Amino acid sequence: MFQEDMYRILGKNIISKCLICESSELEMAWKKPPNSICANCGFVFLSLLPERLKVRKYYKDSPFSSGSAYHEKINEGLINNVFEVLEKHITPFSGSVLEIGCGRGDLLARLLQRGWDVTGIEPSLSSSRSALKKRLNVHTSLLEEVHFKSNRFDLVICISTLEHLINPKESLNRVRRWLKQKGLLYIIVPDAFGRPFHRSDLEIVEHVSHFTTNSLKYLLSVCGYDTIFVNKDKRKTYIQVLAIKSTGPIMNKIYASEYKKSLSRVNRQKAKNETEKKRLNRIIRAKIDTWIKQKSKIGIYGTGIHTYYLNDIVNISKFPCYYFDSDPVKRKLKIFGKTIYGPTDLRKLGIEKVIISSEAYEQEIYDLIERSSKNIEVLSLYNKCGKM
Ligand SMILES: [Zn+2]
Repeated sequence: MFQEDMYRILGKNIISKCLICESSELEMAWKKPPNSICANCGFVFLSLLPERLKVRKYYKDSPFSSGSAYHEKINEGLINNVFEVLEKHITPFSGSVLEIGCGRGDLLARLLQRGWDVTGIEPSLSSSRSALKKRLNVHTSLLEEVHFKSNRFDLVICISTLEHLINPKESLNRVRRWLKQKGLLYIIVPDAFGRPFHRSDLEIVEHVSHFTTNSLKYLLSVCGYDTIFVNKDKRKTYIQVLAIKSTGPIMNKIYASEYKKSLSRVNRQKAKNETEKKRLNRIIRAKIDTWIKQKSKIGIYGTGIHTYYLNDIVNISKFPCYYFDSDPVKRKLKIFGKTIYGPTDLRKLGIEKVIISSEAYEQEIYDLIERSSKNIEVLSLYNKCGKM
């Protein structure tokens, strides 16, 4: 059910032209899920076009969609960081703002406090409900299905959203119409080849576009924006860009010939991912074998995209494991045909060993397990807790 849940957003139509430069010279970048690389500009993107109706339903009510999880994770640190950049470039610091993929509306609420006229778009029903409770003006919809007057906003914010959009170019053109003259567009996207091991991010079906700094700048210039600020975080996980609505589309040749660089990145990343998968397979298999010999009760904590990745590495669904998730919405669902339990069930079921399959919540889950029982042995997929 879980894999189907992710893959069901894909249609059968192959994307035949590059999403940025429209060249039809495309090559396969990797197979699972199918991704293409443009032999002209080097842009890497999903080969199968997600279907809008399926995408809408998926983001609206799928508890497995990663979008809502990321947006729940918009924390004080990130909000402060966003404010720092925006305040530096916008004086006086006020106007009308639209946030695309506003999640629970934490950022918009802060902007509202500062006197901004705020509007949000959020396809996830549960997230948009939280935003509406904050008395924010939020459209529960996809970007492609919302209409605003031209020249409506001074600022558009798009955090961890652009990479999910079915047609990034069309979307940015739409946004450009909504922006006032010299209006600003603030974007954060994952750096597709930035971090040491990108792991599951390249394998998320939800990610239609895999941006690099140059491909994002190229897309922006093609859609009629001038990039005025670019930054990466310390871990090189994300690219942060501030762009201004320019007078018209400028085909910027500087970014148009990235193919060779992009191809070598793809190949390097594929090799790294394979090495990492083999390494994890060795470690996790050895652990599971020992645990099974000891007749221990094994729990897998987390039932999101990383559990799918874990299954890809060791075929976890074949082993006798119990599945756990902190999200109460998942309590009535199943993963790999098995019940999903809540945190209080760890003790009730007498779980002795746990593999954490979550990235953003790894530390929280680790702390939660520690509180639940001191005797549980923990192995974490991403090892941020230093337990592997
Ligand atoms: Zn291209």
